Amino acid sequence: MDVTIFGSGYVGLVTGVCLAEVGNRVLCIDVDPAKIALLNSGGVPIYEPGLDELIKQNREAGRLTFSTDAEEGVRHGLFQFIAVGTPPDEDGSADLQYVLAVARSIGEHMDGYRILVNKSTVPVGTADKVAAAVRDAQSARGMAVEFDVVSNPEFLKEGAAIDDFMRPDRIIVGTDNPRTGELLRALYAPFNRNHDRVMLMDVRSAELTKYAANAMLATKISFMNELSNIAEAVGADIEKVRVGIGSDPRIGYQFIYPGCGYGGSCFPKDVRALERTARSLGYDPQLLHAVEAVNFRQKDLLFKKIHAHFNGDLQGRTIAVWGLSFKPNTDDMREASSRVLMESLWEAGAKVQAFDPVSMPETQRIYGERADLALVDDALAALEGADALAVLTEWAQFRSPDFRMIKDKLKAGVIFDGRNILDGHLATATGLTYISIGRLPMT
Ligand code: NAD
Repeated sequence: MDVTIFGSGYVGLVTGVCLAEVGNRVLCIDVDPAKIALLNSGGVPIYEPGLDELIKQNREAGRLTFSTDAEEGVRHGLFQFIAVGTPPDEDGSADLQYVLAVARSIGEHMDGYRILVNKSTVPVGTADKVAAAVRDAQSARGMAVEFDVVSNPEFLKEGAAIDDFMRPDRIIVGTDNPRTGELLRALYAPFNRNHDRVMLMDVRSAELTKYAANAMLATKISFMNELSNIAEAVGADIEKVRVGIGSDPRIGYQFIYPGCGYGGSCFPKDVRALERTARSLGYDPQLLHAVEAVNFRQKDLLFKKIHAHFNGDLQGRTIAVWGLSFKPNTDDMREASSRVLMESLWEAGAKVQAFDPVSMPETQRIYGERADLALVDDALAALEGADALAVLTEWAQFRSPDFRMIKDKLKAGVIFDGRNILDGHLATATGLTYISIGRLPMT
């Protein structure tokens, strides 16, 4: 089948390459000429495990092409996927300008039936706005060509995106037109062989399902973080509590890790957008508000611990930071907890010496050259001349470090583990001070 994808970011590229891999002819469109030039020259603008190789193979097989030409994109595919960003507006609601710009382009150029498949995370009711934008653009050129708008929210996780797309837990298809639903089912059939994962539903329920999933996951994290602060206050160990509650199958072990807050391009903005939607309809979403507020406070926690440990005197100190991306296996720095910590450290007069396996170019792009930020080649180099170590991202390579080496390098001999991934007892036995989340300092 012929498929066009508007937006060649995390979601667009992964969707495009996976649909090409199973035999479709896919054209990916982006408004960013530098991104398209890079893709056309064999480069990949983002880090995602397995993506480079799949792009290479599918480009060579002629099933995957890239262009900035929206008109060519509209001509190409029966399916017109929308996978552009929906960043938060000033008031927290989702900014639909990119989604609606794509809808207008499609309306301006379509000359036959098209299915608009919305993969971007958008508030309930957006499909109606997309349809209106297509109709307006069509009528401006005196045409009325048939089309459908489908809500097909994406649930991939950065860092495991290819696998998530190839073996999805579910494929949500929101449409009021049964024939369109069957066409989507056919497009997704290669990813649906093991058992039927396609869930057909009305458009609004599909749109809300995506927000509900992200809000639920964010709630689990904020709940555990709230409890971790209570554990610390009462002298309990949140890691023991975690294992204790996870054993109840109604709760489960998944996604209940305490830490220094959630980030990324989805949870923060989607919780805010859902809260905004509810408020605009006169409903006060108290739980969603608390989820966001707890996370905001939690992202500041590691700085507070560092500040308290050094009695407020951070001027001229150097803090080693391990991990910059918002989670492992991605270079995505959007709303990463590391940014909150680094910016607070700089404000307090400290320097940061950081290492991350993949997100240092992105960090450099965001912060540019500055005297109080050194991005170094490996985890050990980050410790050189540093007073303390802060662990911000749970990359596998940070989990079992040589504590003796750390002890030798760190001037103040203290580790702040923002993800509770290190063996605190071993660190303490080596003579280090180990401070983590939701546990009293180990002795
Ligand atoms: P992204 O910022 O990585 O990519 C968006 C791309 O769209 C950019 O390359 C941008 O240049 C391009 N673009 C903007 N306007 C365009 C236009 N008119 N025509 C063509 N291209 C255009 O964003 P992303 O992380 O891929 O997210 C896309 C959507 O998917 C968002 O709504 C997001 O919430 C949702 N989502 C993201 C993830 C994730 O893990 N990143 C997971 C599920 C859903």
